[in-house]
Amino acid sequence: MRDMILLKQGEIVLKGLNRRAFEQKLLGNIQRRLRPFGPFRVHCIQSTVYVEPQADESDMDAAFDAMTKVFGVVSVSRAAACEKDKDAIFRCAREYLAGAMAEARSFKVETKRSDKRFPMTSIQLSQYVGGLLAEAFPEVKVDVHNPELTVHLEVRDYAAYVHAAPTPGAGGMPVGSNGSAVTLLSGGIDSPVSTYMIAKRGVRMIPVHFFSFPYTSELAKEKVIQLTQLLTDWCGRMTLEIVPFTHIQEEIRAKCPEEYFTLIIRRFMMRIAHRVARSNGCGALVTGENLGQVASQTMEAMAVTEAVTDLPVLRPLVGLDKEEIVRYARRIGTFDTSVLPYEDCCTVFTPRHPRTRPRLGEVEEAEAALDVEALVEEAFAGIERLRLEPGREPELR
Ligand code: ATP
Ligand code: MG
Repeated sequence: MRDMILLKQGEIVLKGLNRRAFEQKLLGNIQRRLRPFGPFRVHCIQSTVYVEPQADESDMDAAFDAMTKVFGVVSVSRAAACEKDKDAIFRCAREYLAGAMAEARSFKVETKRSDKRFPMTSIQLSQYVGGLLAEAFPEVKVDVHNPELTVHLEVRDYAAYVHAAPTPGAGGMPVGSNGSAVTLLSGGIDSPVSTYMIAKRGVRMIPVHFFSFPYTSELAKEKVIQLTQLLTDWCGRMTLEIVPFTHIQEEIRAKCPEEYFTLIIRRFMMRIAHRVARSNGCGALVTGENLGQVASQTMEAMAVTEAVTDLPVLRPLVGLDKEEIVRYARRIGTFDTSVLPYEDCCTVFTPRHPRTRPRLGEVEEAEAALDVEALVEEAFAGIERLRLEPGREPELR
């Protein structure tokens, strides 16, 4: 009996001709995600991915946890492999599921058989193994309609597999199968969630953070690095781009009318994110904006901020309530870091009476006092890049 992990592919299965390319992305992502946990063999047959430990030091618990965060997978199960023989399969199930059987009050057996040369039908094998398991665990009832535990048997080409209760996978599509995008990552609750959501649709993410030292502290930067590190569990390896933003904000404060501060700041963020996107072949910008949450998130303000880029601006949280966003943030593990008190935004740059229904013309006029091109160029040239990977220390690039 060999302990292993089975992953079921999700939507990827629908992709027809592109299927092989999708599968290759998924396998590559899985292999990289397993790297910190020891040697594993990964292969794929008929939309199931098999992950087998290759040494005693292969950490199966950690690998299992990592596999529940890989996009493109709908379910993850710990499984045991055995010889394709009805009695070997029964012995394997009895031993491997002893704990689960002891806890359950009722069970049934379900069989999938892709090896059509196996001498029993699926139903016959389910009945055979189910009967023997009922004898071996007399306190557990057979219940084919509403069992607490379903014992899954799979008879495949090379082996038979036994597993119970699959854990839901992360869903979505393999990261890298749908292009790449720049995500504007603050230290807040929202933008880690928006990053997660677009990565889930198969997009490789490049996080960009605007850093205004000394108005925001080194700790605020550490916090964004930590958030990016947490997000690599879902998004895979990423390069965080930290943009020096102080000079731009000081120029705006010195030369523009206060009521437009936030809007002009956000337009600069968009311009620089656009530059980063263009130099990395990205197809979109992503923000954590949410309709009506703050003054800069009205429809008029969004129109004014996105006017500086011709890339689509994806705002996956636009229709969510704060509570719903918080629920996501907790589930993906970023909430506790997001609420650490190092503020990302600084009160010196927050207007007392911001414009909530700005018109593009007036904002452009307010901006005319600045040398926009030179400021963007200077910030872009000063970008600091950090490579982040699951289970690795950040690395300067
Ligand atoms: P969050 O919780 O993501 O900080 P928020 O509700 O505080 O969002 P804003 O501060 O208006 O909203 O920011 C809106 C979006 O702009 C953020 O979700 C993020 O995508 C981007 N953004 C804001 N500040 C920064 C920053 N310093 N660096 C990078 N992106 C930022
Ligand atoms: Mg914020």
